[in-house]
Amino acid sequence: MADFETPEIKEYPVIPHLQEGVMAHSKPFVAKEEFQEQLGFPGELVDNWEQVALDKMQELTGKYRGFQVFLDSCVKCGACTDKCHYYLGTTDPKNMPVARQDLLRKVYRRNFTFAGKYFPKLVGAVDLTKEVLDDWYSYFHQCSQCRRCSVYCPYGIDTAEISMAAREIMDCVGVGQKYCNEIIGKVYKIGNNLGLPEPALVDTLEGLEEEVEEDTGVKVRFPVDEKGADVLVVTPSADFFAEPHVDGLIGYAKVFHEAGISWTLSSHASEAANFGMFIGSYENMRKVSMRIREAALDLGVKRIIMGECGHAWRVAYSFLNTLAGPFDFLDPNYPVPQHILEFTHDLIQRGALTLDKSANDDMIMTYHDSCNVARASRMGSRPGGQFTIPRDVIRASCNHFFDMPQETIHEATYCCGGGGGLLTDDLMELRVKGALPRMEALKQVVEEHGVTHMAAICAICKSQFSKVLPYYGFTMDSIVSVHQLVSNAIVLGNKQ
Ligand code: SF4
Ligand code: SF4
Repeated sequence: MADFETPEIKEYPVIPHLQEGVMAHSKPFVAKEEFQEQLGFPGELVDNWEQVALDKMQELTGKYRGFQVFLDSCVKCGACTDKCHYYLGTTDPKNMPVARQDLLRKVYRRNFTFAGKYFPKLVGAVDLTKEVLDDWYSYFHQCSQCRRCSVYCPYGIDTAEISMAAREIMDCVGVGQKYCNEIIGKVYKIGNNLGLPEPALVDTLEGLEEEVEEDTGVKVRFPVDEKGADVLVVTPSADFFAEPHVDGLIGYAKVFHEAGISWTLSSHASEAANFGMFIGSYENMRKVSMRIREAALDLGVKRIIMGECGHAWRVAYSFLNTLAGPFDFLDPNYPVPQHILEFTHDLIQRGALTLDKSANDDMIMTYHDSCNVARASRMGSRPGGQFTIPRDVIRASCNHFFDMPQETIHEATYCCGGGGGLLTDDLMELRVKGALPRMEALKQVVEEHGVTHMAAICAICKSQFSKVLPYYGFTMDSIVSVHQLVSNAIVLGNKQ
């Protein structure tokens, strides 16, 4: 199946012995000139790259206070060392969060601190060399920006911010990552990560309408570019055809149908994902976000609802209003944006949906908290809503639900191993190894409670798990969408 060894699932948790440099070879493909330039970055490594990189580092420390504080404040207490799924799965010490940060910090110290300039050896400061840049490229693409380490750091140092800055610096010297940069370019040209043009999108949605009508006898609509609809749904493009994502999209459509609320997708904003965040580029993040504003204005909707996607919700929840606001043309009675789980949860609470839980009796469920939802956003009006709302919806839709061990869920959740722009085949070894802690936790509930399926609300988690579950002896269809459970359980009326 692969030219690397899948880690053995051990009794959870086991902190592995260090194997220095064991993942130094892991690097994603470098972006070609065309993919770099469409994002405004140089096509290849620029001649004076050392100076360009240092100038960018200085600019970023000046612009983002947190970035400089994170570089200055680590006391090497070690609390974060065993908290990263990539360290636990690969055993490479440079995947310890503090060691990953230090790859950049030692260059920062050398160039921007008194001690580093005059006593570099004393403070572990080094010059920026090609060898250091190569290490950056390798190990800053072994961080999914999941923020788990920051939960355990007494200073709240967020390695994700340092990884984002490192990737932005690398893009600015001409060494960007192919997967992310190519995808962002596709959004600019076509509107979504998959490069699915409007006619293909319309076709796909018509096909789904026919499929649901055949299954249920009810004409559930999947509208696109429908002017005057109340709600614009922006969802990851994987929802249009990937499994199990598409079953979630069918769930959203059934919920809207039952609620009698008009909605539409948009061919202009046919992507909720925003890979601008993964490369640390606010300019690109803004450009992608603006498409949502343009679509909302063009279609004249009153609300924006985001589909099941972890980092898209993080970008929308934390940045959409700053990047693409103000949204004063929308109905002020609803939050901007709203999550599809908040929408469905509210309808369930108000008794507006009839759910037959027994429709999911063939599954014993657990739930994977996606890292971006868990640690970088919220849902609903109460703290912790991002943990309770998805679980409430699952419990309302099925009879059998068991959580994985406490130290692996909620704010302590483990990344699926494919987040942060790493969901690419050239990083398969990293993805499989990084999934180890989640697989260990899953195995525990499989053995203790007979769990058969794991639900998630993130397009990346769903794609990643369907690929890596078989490496650990699970079937690829044991990952499901939360709205897939709703879709199975919802009792449709006969609205015309
Ligand atoms: S942000 Fe996540 S992936 Fe990155 S170092 Fe921290 S725990 Fe590891
Ligand atoms: S937990 Fe925080 S302060 Fe301690 S070593 Fe890690 S990053 Fe540094």
